[in-house]
Amino acid sequence: MNRTGATVAVVGSLNMDIVVQAGRAPRLGETILGEAVHFIPGGKGANQAVAATRLGARSAMVGAVGRDSFGQMLRKSLIDQGVDDSGVRTSESETTGVASILLAEGDNSIIVVPGANGGLTPADVEGNRGLIEEADVLLLQLEIPMEAVEAAACLGRQAGKKVILNPAPARELPAGLLSDIDVITPNQSELELLTGISLDGEGLKAAMERLLERGAGRVVTTLGEDGTAILEPGADWIRLSGHRVKAVDTTGAGDAFNAGLACALAEGRTLPEAAAFANKAAALAVTRLGAQAGMPTREEVEGFQQ
Ligand code: ADP
Repeated sequence: MNRTGATVAVVGSLNMDIVVQAGRAPRLGETILGEAVHFIPGGKGANQAVAATRLGARSAMVGAVGRDSFGQMLRKSLIDQGVDDSGVRTSESETTGVASILLAEGDNSIIVVPGANGGLTPADVEGNRGLIEEADVLLLQLEIPMEAVEAAACLGRQAGKKVILNPAPARELPAGLLSDIDVITPNQSELELLTGISLDGEGLKAAMERLLERGAGRVVTTLGEDGTAILEPGADWIRLSGHRVKAVDTTGAGDAFNAGLACALAEGRTLPEAAAFANKAAALAVTRLGAQAGMPTREEVEGFQQ
């Protein structure tokens, strides 16, 4: 692996995704036989930390799992991928986060039980101050309590780090959080929910401007197969088209994008350069099955021609 020397710290979630395949969904109270079950390491935080190492950065994860076999498996999968797991606490009282995913008739129904992710506190963040201070970029999502996100963003900013917030899943943001954020990276539905602005017509640019007005340093909106839009204060906005690929599995596209953006910013690239790198990493990720398993390597992104 070609390490770049850049370092990314991720404060976020770790989940075991339990994917059950069945011919149809059971009715309430009914028992049916399923076809297969898969245990897949997930959680946006862990996915982004793994993706960042595959893209060449050193990465460190701050989060929590339970004292159970899923927790051990998730920790091992981070270590196997070269992620520093020293900031992952084992909770004595809560279970490892689980996403129970039923795949039936080409659709999925999901129940997420946050478990230990929901117990992550500002004290956990403070206890891992060193990991954040050592990093070039701090990468955050919203699958942990908002107080922990706020504490991490504040610490990152005070330490002079670039702080990226991937506002997923979308939630109301507390006043003040955005002024600690250097780059916010909503997808289209998250941008609409955060701003209340419909993205039709001129709406996309107006909604991105609204996030700048509310304190975010810069905004990068992901547009699925249409690529991405970038807005920096005092500059014209930029649209980068998506790469034409055969989409096999779009889970993890946003995670690959955010990890790519974090790595490239950590290396000192400009925001448009970093978004172009992320756009390639995410396009490659959608051509493969699985969130973590489908994350491309740096060599693959650099060799990606289109
Ligand atoms: P999320 O997965 O968070 O909903 P998007 O759907 O906006 O986010 O996708 C994130 C990024 O992944 C996009 O900005 C783009 O770079 C890439 N991407 C997603 N879907 C496709 C696709 N069908 N073809 C090419 N690139 C894609």
